[in-house]
Amino acid sequence: MRPEPASPERLLILAPTGRDAPLAAEVLGCAAIECAICDDAEEAAARIAEGAGALLVAEEALLPSAVRELAIAIAAQEPWSDLPVIVFSSRGATADPIGFAERLARLGNVTLVERPLHRPTLVSVVRAALRARRRQYTAREVLVRLEAAIRQRDGFLALLGHELRNPLSAIQMAADLASVGADPARHVQVVRRQSHQLARLVDDLLEVSRVTAGKITLRRAPVDVQRLVERCAELQALSAGAQGVDVRFSTGPPLWTIGDPTRLEQVVSNLLSNAMKYTPRGGHVLVSVEAAGPDALIRVRDDGIGISANDLERIFEPFVQIDAALDRARGGMGLGLTLVQTLARAHGGDVRVASAGPGRGSEFTVHLPIAPTVQPTSPDERLAVPARDVLLVEDNDDVRLALSEALALHGHKVRAAPDGPTGLALAHQAAPEIAFVDIGLPQMDGYEVARHLREEHGRRPYLVALTGYGRPEDRDLAREAGFDLHLTKPVDMLRVHEILLGAGRGA
Ligand code: ADP
Repeated sequence: MRPEPASPERLLILAPTGRDAPLAAEVLGCAAIECAICDDAEEAAARIAEGAGALLVAEEALLPSAVRELAIAIAAQEPWSDLPVIVFSSRGATADPIGFAERLARLGNVTLVERPLHRPTLVSVVRAALRARRRQYTAREVLVRLEAAIRQRDGFLALLGHELRNPLSAIQMAADLASVGADPARHVQVVRRQSHQLARLVDDLLEVSRVTAGKITLRRAPVDVQRLVERCAELQALSAGAQGVDVRFSTGPPLWTIGDPTRLEQVVSNLLSNAMKYTPRGGHVLVSVEAAGPDALIRVRDDGIGISANDLERIFEPFVQIDAALDRARGGMGLGLTLVQTLARAHGGDVRVASAGPGRGSEFTVHLPIAPTVQPTSPDERLAVPARDVLLVEDNDDVRLALSEALALHGHKVRAAPDGPTGLALAHQAAPEIAFVDIGLPQMDGYEVARHLREEHGRRPYLVALTGYGRPEDRDLAREAGFDLHLTKPVDMLRVHEILLGAGRGA
């Protein structure tokens, strides 16, 4: 039979002569303190190594050889551990008080109590020792968690270095090749693709650190979950075709929740892009929304590579990737699902995953509480994908031109200005529905432009700050200046498109 595992709370008693040990065990047993009597110092040392709450030892047992044995066991404890040792002594029993004091010192954390000892005193001394020991155990748990976090962080930094180096070296090479005139158009493509990848990494990182530190503010509004999911599925379907994956959305009646539409879109888009990433060509992704009791359930099902039972819970932890080499090759860092889970929980919901195993697809389900009675002010507005009147204030000629063209391509009416005063003059002629304003502008910075726009046009224009800084304090500054949204550069066109779909209805 296997021996019982040693309880780290038990009190070891070493009192080999007389009746002290059984008596103490009886008294303490009545006070529900678990005791283990040791026959000699060797046994006590072995039990200390297994784990103990404290050691109660009679003075007579502390012969020099026993002290040596116990001192070795005590010294071998881990750095967090300081085993409490209670020594019973008898007044005047020690012939050599100095030698005795030295022996006690070798045992470390010693409390000396004199016999005869009343029962309540014994119980309280032992309880105090065990309580102190429990605090040490708590400290150990904190240390273990910290060590694990440090290991995870180090692993992550190594991964991050690797992840950043890959696109950077591709960009460097493409720039070198383009500068010597070798097929510049192709190299520009490489730079664009790789810098997009870099920007996503940085965005994800900033986002995860903000969300996990609880520093996001949800801008809550009534959201039709059906509509929101449908929009995300439509956007995803645009790129799904090229990847040979069929994305379908099965529609249903409106289901309202109170949430931050931008964040909820982030949740759904992350699940959708994962489903596409982990589904080979010819595969299918099915998205649906249904009511289940008090919740709206968003289901994202794929018939892709699936997930083994062991990995199902793990995948929500930060930086976890089932097959790191493979997953990284697919452009991930193991942060997406952490974000999804944190955001779903911040909305009073959650996310779950199910899979029949490798090769058998996966299903992610997001639960969101249904809002009891929500009357959208203008539901039709939410259904339409309107052409917007957009003002763009950006001093970088390339960015201004590229963004204007991209917006015009989607049918939006774009007025562009290279600086704040010109932008304000355009807005004065006719108030835009949406303004994208760069923060680092010459003469008048973007914050000032936003303040003027708000002064002249009130809440009407939906104001989006464009900046290279994604820190929380930058977002706060933008919000204070009157911006509705803060977008880090380089601008992701998919995100801009989402904003244009959502702006004007609290997105
Ligand atoms: P990543 O950026 O690597 O995709 P995520 O946090 O989004 O990170 O996902 C964590 C891991 O979960 C992924 O690396 C992948 O191994 C697994 N995973 C996520 N979604 C799916 C899916 N739909 N099918 C199979 N595996 C998935």
